[in-house]
Amino acid sequence: MTVLRSGSASDVGRVRSVNEDLAFESGSLFAVADGMGGHAGGEVAARTAIDSLRSGFEHAPSVEGLVEAVHGANDAVLERGRAEPALRGMGTTLTAAALVGTDDGDRLVLANVGDSRGYRLHEGRLSQLTVDHSVAEELLARGELTEREAAVHPHRHILTRALGVDSDVEVDTWELVPEEGDRYLLCSDGLSNEISRDTIAEVLTSTPDPKDAAETLVRMANDHGGNDNVTALVLDVLVGEPSADGEDGGKDAKGGPGEDGAPEPVTAAAPAGAAATARTAAPARPPPSWRGPTRPPPQRPRRGRPYTSPPRSAAGHLAASRFGCCSSWYCSAVSGTGPIRRSGGT
Ligand code: MN
Repeated sequence: MTVLRSGSASDVGRVRSVNEDLAFESGSLFAVADGMGGHAGGEVAARTAIDSLRSGFEHAPSVEGLVEAVHGANDAVLERGRAEPALRGMGTTLTAAALVGTDDGDRLVLANVGDSRGYRLHEGRLSQLTVDHSVAEELLARGELTEREAAVHPHRHILTRALGVDSDVEVDTWELVPEEGDRYLLCSDGLSNEISRDTIAEVLTSTPDPKDAAETLVRMANDHGGNDNVTALVLDVLVGEPSADGEDGGKDAKGGPGEDGAPEPVTAAAPAGAAATARTAAPARPPPSWRGPTRPPPQRPRRGRPYTSPPRSAAGHLAASRFGCCSSWYCSAVSGTGPIRRSGGT
């Protein structure tokens, strides 16, 4: 049996007038959404995505169910944006974590679209699990930018994937063994852009209560400038799954397959059922806390689209931003007005 405890905090920040971020916590489902769009669009997009995710996952609380629920959330945001002219062009990021039971025991499934992030603090080390679906991240992945260049790239906040933009969306998923003592962080870019990973790790290791940790992180982001809405959700594994040692011999708890010990996603482009395939097709020697085939490294040509050719449905964003009612990074990208720059961005 796995026992989780969570806490979250969200704040409008020091610059924006509306908080379009949203955090959601329930017994077994946790999510952060960062909405975008003019008027109430961003708020509505985030709320619509979370509501749809929740009901979708309630009906199918499984690995596949979570992935399906994210696709359902995409449909919900897209349909609502199309149905209500004032909401046209809205979209949202979504990073979700769900506890599900499988034949192999409990698993924590992480799903991501956009540039909100999931981190795991495991044995004192903080690893970023998710990969940002942003222009800068993709250039970095293709070797066209260094990490240092990506951190200050003018298009680093432009998204290449979001919910509500297109009827088809690729969902990155991870299937993790919830080990006792592990701590997960879901956050919006308003946190990760303001404070460094080291600082995040320091807070997470030194603040036992998840709610306190989330509030401290949000406060620090605001102290650092608060240039965006900021949201943090901290999830603790109080009672975890036994380590997989006896089960398959593949568990050595000495670090993951990635350079920094971060598990690779089950699939970078997850059609319905992909996670199930991955789960049943366990490799002979799975890496710690993770089962499934490795993502094709490091070239990922199928990830998103280059910013020079935005998705078809970006037209909605373009129209909105031309009238000055949309301030999101996505809209400013396709309208050619340039991304929002964060002063002293990290
Ligand atoms: Mn944001």
